Amino acid sequence: MRKSFMPSFGSPDELKNLQLQGLQWTVNHAYNGSPFYKEKLDQAGVQPDDIKSLDDLRRLPFTTANDLQEGYPFPLLSVPFEKVVRIHASSGTTGKRKVLCYSQKDIEDWTHFFARCYEMAELTPEDRVQIAVGYGVWTAGVSFQAGCEAFGAMAIPAGPGNLDMQCQFLVDFQSTVMCCTASMGLLMAEEVNRRGLREKINLKKMIFGSERSSDSMRKRIGELLGLEHMFDIPGMTELYGPGTGLDCVYHTGIHYWADYYILEILDPETLQPVPEGETGEMVVTTLKKEATPLIRYRTRDLTRLIPGECPCGSMLPRHDRLLGRSDDMIIFRAVNIYPGQIDHVLSGIKGIGSEYQIILDRKADGKDYMTLKVERDQGVDNSLDPSLTRTIGEEMKKQIMVSAAIEVVEYGSLPRSERKSKRVFDHREG
Ligand code: ZN
Repeated sequence: MRKSFMPSFGSPDELKNLQLQGLQWTVNHAYNGSPFYKEKLDQAGVQPDDIKSLDDLRRLPFTTANDLQEGYPFPLLSVPFEKVVRIHASSGTTGKRKVLCYSQKDIEDWTHFFARCYEMAELTPEDRVQIAVGYGVWTAGVSFQAGCEAFGAMAIPAGPGNLDMQCQFLVDFQSTVMCCTASMGLLMAEEVNRRGLREKINLKKMIFGSERSSDSMRKRIGELLGLEHMFDIPGMTELYGPGTGLDCVYHTGIHYWADYYILEILDPETLQPVPEGETGEMVVTTLKKEATPLIRYRTRDLTRLIPGECPCGSMLPRHDRLLGRSDDMIIFRAVNIYPGQIDHVLSGIKGIGSEYQIILDRKADGKDYMTLKVERDQGVDNSLDPSLTRTIGEEMKKQIMVSAAIEVVEYGSLPRSERKSKRVFDHREG
């Protein structure tokens, strides 16, 4: 039997035990290894011995991006410097960069759970993995490669870009899996077809990292290349890097490695847990990380936990794809709404385009009102407007519990931007 990289726990209770041990270890390690964490925990009135159950997680103070930046160049370091064997950094354009340190064991752990990604995607040692992501201090292509080698498949460390070379590798090396961004995946898919290479390649799966990919984009890539599967690989530098989870072949959400970190989903305003299945901010606490442990690190990324069991039978819990950043949250009639949720509602409705605007007003009655302007899809007749209006209104109510006035407008009438389009217009006072 082949070596498995899946966790060894056999029940949710066993996982909770593992997590408690990891949490106790982490708090103790951070308290004794990092003056920053010691001060922070002392201020919060929590000592390592106070962590007796997983509920005690809630007593721990939060760590933020600001803490990482203020500690530049080696923030939150919790081991002696001689134990650090590598660094990676975020390529942030504003403020100072976040630099994360890794011990030998951190690298081994990362490699182990990255190999698990390939196992989750049901690769075999016969697979040939073309790794078309960046290598260096900013993007950890090296982790895709180390995980692939540990898993036992063949790594082709191609690096990003260079479509000529990528196409040549697909043909000559008969790569079966490609790791890249979804944007690059689309370029590759179009290029392969333009060059008439579809019958000469053997590509079956793609693993997409580091950006949100729309369903329509994925569908097009899958069709152009005749793929069996496309997977999403999450990853942020603060939490090792890429490879902290992967969707299985049922694609019901991203299984995340709960034996390596605890994921809390919190209301970004109140910092209290949201009901299971509702959207909130991802807050992570590492369980084994030595050099730069994270205690309740506020990622600002939004997602939700997916309740219930996956048909694959894995006990690893699942979270949804990322739905945006908590900084983009709107509070409307006491409901927290994220533009990503509206994206999601609209993407499920036929006959409308991808452009929309959210307009918020406060009227004389003192109440808040939302108008949602949505473009008709190209070539769709305006006689359908009444039924589109009704459908959008109903879906908004059903999926995010918001009543909005819907205006369907002409295709191409909302402004476009090459950068991120402004979608929210808040005219409310205060
Ligand atoms: Zn599954």
